[in-house]
Amino acid sequence: MIVTLSPDAPASTVEHLMSSAISLGLSARVLSYDDGAQVVGIDGSLSIDINQLPGVTTVQVKHKPYMLASREERAPSVVRVGNVRIGGAEPVIMAGPCVVEGRDELICAARAVKAAGATMLRGGAYKPRTSPYAFQGLGEDGLKHLAAAREATGLPVVTEVLEPEQVELVARYADMLQVGARNMQNYPLLRRVGAANKPVLLKRGFSATVDEWLMAAEYILAHGNPNVVLCERGIRGFDPAFRFNLDLNAVPLAKELSHLPVVVDPSHGTGVRSLVAPMSMAALASGADGLIIEVHPNPDLAKCDASQTISPAELATINRRGRALVAALAEDHTLFNLPIELEVILSA
Ligand code: PEP
Ligand code: MN
Repeated sequence: MIVTLSPDAPASTVEHLMSSAISLGLSARVLSYDDGAQVVGIDGSLSIDINQLPGVTTVQVKHKPYMLASREERAPSVVRVGNVRIGGAEPVIMAGPCVVEGRDELICAARAVKAAGATMLRGGAYKPRTSPYAFQGLGEDGLKHLAAAREATGLPVVTEVLEPEQVELVARYADMLQVGARNMQNYPLLRRVGAANKPVLLKRGFSATVDEWLMAAEYILAHGNPNVVLCERGIRGFDPAFRFNLDLNAVPLAKELSHLPVVVDPSHGTGVRSLVAPMSMAALASGADGLIIEVHPNPDLAKCDASQTISPAELATINRRGRALVAALAEDHTLFNLPIELEVILSA
């Protein structure tokens, strides 16, 4: 069951719910959101009259298995990363190289993506490469360069953490922790980022169902971290023309099922530079709260994923057109609300 509490609910209510659950052998989790609301998820039913407890707003008995990630008891969440809000009216654009290549190179890239409209900087210091012989990233030096680029531009930084033992180190430098597609079901890692005090970008595994993706998010929430952003980054298809198939069905579905914001990665989702701009527009039109895009001042020379990396000039076009698209969709209420005449016909 999902019990929602008002911000002024007394601690005794949470304690009562938790101890009642434990006495029945049920697992229970409490999650506190930044807006003060608290949700208690209990994997089963309690015999006490929950509605009588002070501060209880709603009690949901039947719900999805991802009780904390579910949309059933929560309005869409906004996740803050520094001064950036993910899930608000403005789309968030995270951009930067696939891998951090050096201090000066990264600062140059960060300045370029900022000038092109990006609001966050991406870049890998620890890379999950298919080949053990491929460049694995600069490690802690890469993290230091990311911090220097943040210092130079003011852009908050998102970067991947590969192993549970790395979480503390990466969290010391990054503003947001990325869990990559290959690690979506690495439960020790999910538990560890769940206990970290940093927002998490959870990429969808490339053969994971939407339900599995939301259950992975549930791990992070269940370990106490309410600040999770989902990222659709393409699933395995059969056509070698694309690296992955960007699954835009998953965007409105994830937003229907979960309160968590959803961003889209059209770089890995296509693997093809020329497809990044059109699929960015499609992603925003499907309801994505933002994009994460691989950008390099000289895309052909990118040390990793060059074929899907775009230039800052191309990012500037995506930024301009994307923001115009989102504003147009928000303004044109007739796109979402049926015209009165049609409503009358349908209800007759
Ligand atoms: C990345 O963002 O650089 C990356 C490796 O992504 P994914 O985990 O989606 O493959
Ligand atoms: Mn990449």
